[in-house]
Amino acid sequence: LAREPEHRYDDLVVVFPDAAVGIVTVADILAELSRANSHRALHDELTGLANRALFLDRLRHAHARSARTGAQISVLFIDLDDFKSVNDSLGHPAGDELLAAVAQRFDAGLRGGDTLARLGGDEFAVLCEESGGERAAVATARRLLDRLAEPIALTGRRVTARASVGVSTGPGVDLAEELLRNADLAMYRAKRLQKDSIAVYEPGMHTGAVDRLELKSDLDGALDRGELALVYQPIVALRDESVVALEALLRWRHPARGPVPPAEFVPLAEQTGAIVPIGRWVLATACGHVSKLNRSRVGQPPLGVNVNVAPPQLADPHFVASVATVLAEVELPADRLTLELTEQVLVRDVEGTIETLEAIKRLGVRIAIDDFGTGFSSLSYLRRFPIDVIKVDRSFTAGIGDGADERDMMSGILNLTDSLGYEALAEGIETGEQLGALRELCCPLGQGFLFDKPLPPTELFARLGAARG
Ligand code: C2E
Ligand code: MG
Ligand code: MG
Repeated sequence: LAREPEHRYDDLVVVFPDAAVGIVTVADILAELSRANSHRALHDELTGLANRALFLDRLRHAHARSARTGAQISVLFIDLDDFKSVNDSLGHPAGDELLAAVAQRFDAGLRGGDTLARLGGDEFAVLCEESGGERAAVATARRLLDRLAEPIALTGRRVTARASVGVSTGPGVDLAEELLRNADLAMYRAKRLQKDSIAVYEPGMHTGAVDRLELKSDLDGALDRGELALVYQPIVALRDESVVALEALLRWRHPARGPVPPAEFVPLAEQTGAIVPIGRWVLATACGHVSKLNRSRVGQPPLGVNVNVAPPQLADPHFVASVATVLAEVELPADRLTLELTEQVLVRDVEGTIETLEAIKRLGVRIAIDDFGTGFSSLSYLRRFPIDVIKVDRSFTAGIGDGADERDMMSGILNLTDSLGYEALAEGIETGEQLGALRELCCPLGQGFLFDKPLPPTELFARLGAARG
């Protein structure tokens, strides 16, 4: 027993403590048992880290001490980005392996006195006592994220894990739990603004949480109340900057708050399912607009239209039929329409997605992968799906002016895209320097503020319609 503290109750049946021998007493067994059980009660089985209960206990003690001494304590709330995709695409055993590996990486990046816990799922927390304040806590968070830079070898596959971190620092709160909740709110902000990043808690974030609830319910009638509109951003051939297509981007003018950015409300609409009717409206409206625009541009090559599609739309069994109906209704040739999907779609129900995408392809509609490079999928993984265009995320475009490494990264992506037979589009081109570099790298398509911001149809269409060649 002493050697094997992790035994189970059933093992105990064979142990017959003999008081006369005096080696193991019933009291010893019970003490050992309770030690083993309490270890189990306070630790996460998968990673061996402290669990939520132990973390909160340590946090309460640290908070009480810091209230006496004024010592700073910090809490980091860490959530893996797109962990669900790993579970869904590679299976739960791989997900477990990843969590255990991430736990080890984090553990190696902390000081002896820090407490690292797995709170559940893909959520981790760190308690830094005598933390040296916010700056030191952010530095610790950075160190932990850096620890994830190196890919992790799972059985049969390498993946790069990323995470978002929220930081909160005390004393200054009444309850220890507030520090954890504040760090959680900050993490949520970090994830929403940009994954793989760190945010420090600010008091305004509470209203954020309440806001989201309100926004969710306001979204319900937004379409019927006419609060939604589309703007369009040109997609250009980089060679001569001619416009070849328009990407439809959704806008919501909230009656009380004014414009709400799509990065804020689209995820909410995905959660509530409101994105399905909204997306259907976007598709019909955008195809209608561009079909009409093309008919007015006599003697000019017709423009394409790109429409963003959210995962719940693709999962809707009526989706493919509704695309066909829209195209017929507005008389837009199918090959003028490109549907933009994010990588997340591809790692959910893989077989089902392939089937849906193939049905879309049979209509003649094109498929683009949006924001490529921000998820887990490698270009070779994409080969399983019938894809036409890779839209390289603007974080890669932003870097190409910075140095040789960033340029090499973009060059690598473009070469691979080309050799796999996809068309490449660089997102977020803002400077002439970026345009120049992309041209040298032979990137065929681009989009960005350098050419045009997203514009209301009246404005953009007047210009495009008037430009008769
Ligand atoms: P996205 O599909 O990647 O759209 C491109 C976003 O990048 C747009 O933001 C656009 O305004 C912005 N952008 C374009 N050029 C530049 C540039 O040069 N620099 C910078 N910094 N940004 C640039 P927007 O309109 O705020 O849309 C954000 C995201 O919201 C979209 O990203 C898309 O994922 C989602 N979204 C927008 N409309 C819809 C929609 O109708 N349905 C769905 N499901 N999602 C949508
Ligand atoms: Mg898009
Ligand atoms: Mg994009």
